[in-house]
Amino acid sequence: MIQLTALQIKLAEQLLLSVKKNERNVTYKELAGRVNPPIHHRHVGKNIGQVSILCHELGLPLLSAKVINQSTHTVGDGFYPLLKMMGIPTEGKTEAELCKEQIKAIRECTEWYKLEDYLGLNVGMPRPVPKLDPKLLDAKRPQGYLRSVDVLNNCFGNEYLGKTYEGWMRGAIAFQSGGEDYSVWFPKLAVNGKAASSSGWINIISSGGSLIEEFGSENTFIPDNNIVFVFAKQGSEPYFFKGVFRADFDRSTEEHHYYLKIADIADLRGAVPTIYYYIDEDRVDNDLISDLGKEDSFVPADGFDYNGKPEPVPKPLTTGGRIVYPRDRRRAINALAHAGYVCEIDPQHPTFIRKKSGKQYTEPHHLVPMSQQSRFPVSLDVEENIVSLCSTCHNHIHYGKGSEELLKKLYAVRKEALRSAGINITEEELLLFYDL
Ligand SMILES: [Zn+2]
Ligand SMILES: [Zn+2]
Repeated sequence: MIQLTALQIKLAEQLLLSVKKNERNVTYKELAGRVNPPIHHRHVGKNIGQVSILCHELGLPLLSAKVINQSTHTVGDGFYPLLKMMGIPTEGKTEAELCKEQIKAIRECTEWYKLEDYLGLNVGMPRPVPKLDPKLLDAKRPQGYLRSVDVLNNCFGNEYLGKTYEGWMRGAIAFQSGGEDYSVWFPKLAVNGKAASSSGWINIISSGGSLIEEFGSENTFIPDNNIVFVFAKQGSEPYFFKGVFRADFDRSTEEHHYYLKIADIADLRGAVPTIYYYIDEDRVDNDLISDLGKEDSFVPADGFDYNGKPEPVPKPLTTGGRIVYPRDRRRAINALAHAGYVCEIDPQHPTFIRKKSGKQYTEPHHLVPMSQQSRFPVSLDVEENIVSLCSTCHNHIHYGKGSEELLKKLYAVRKEALRSAGINITEEELLLFYDL
């Protein structure tokens, strides 16, 4: 790589500033006057040639194409020999065309930061925005970032400061509660096809990057479906993702805003994140179990067997402010019949006879929890995913210590059936869904 002199570096810096300002051209005289201390314009020509050689070596367009003679409005005599010397094809093109080509390339180039970095300058040329963190924001898997700025950079991308980035408008607020430092992000995003508004927020992150503060907070309460992403940390511990929350307008006042947790997981891989809704697994299980208790005919569908093909995802319903995936009781009945009305952990486990149907009592349990439905492209409410358990084993799985062994056993038995229904999951992933 060519070595530039101190003067050439100063000229490169001025040329980069000119690019940043979107100036089409700069005259020899102007450029000479911008260098500190100013130089005679006769010293510009040869030196900007060297800058262009470095540009070429870095794979960038030639900056000296910007510099023109005040009276002729053309580049200096040295420019075309320079193109030839670098091996840039010139045949069949006029000098004016070649010059125009370079000017266009200079304007369109998005990699000027490479020259800035190479020369150790601080011009602030635009840099590529890093890709959003491909990891799910999952409350069960701590993010582990030590500084709020790392949370921002790694989870939401670098271009913060309230700028729009791929459909995001972000604001942030920090506060303390119960000894924990909270940071809350308000992304502009669409939930259920409705865009959340964050226009009421003007927030900044300080230049040091460590402090996030609310700024200009009149009109602070965000109307409509106000969604926030919450991270928290205790003392010098890393940040944890706390989940996705939605404003609870019934409980909120001017001074205090209440939020309801609606999701433990958000996937930021898209420009508009997907929220994985939080579902009260136990409650929905119990609803199904009590439903089955009322069932007179406990008969499976005629000649029922696993159909070995994926089913479409059921449409979620909202009940009591929660998102719930409906469960088909017929499928639960089919599954219990398929298991022969015995506990699948051990068919010898004691049970009793159902009051109405006269069948042996076991409870249906969705092995891959329905709360994870939004992670799967196929229905989880299929017989292949519903196991038959005695009351004790069912409670053991939900509330007991050592449920890992039970789950491993059920997984080993169901692995193939799950796969045939399009539910692809490893044992490790399954255990994670149970906090194991
Ligand atoms: Zn269950
Ligand atoms: Zn059992």
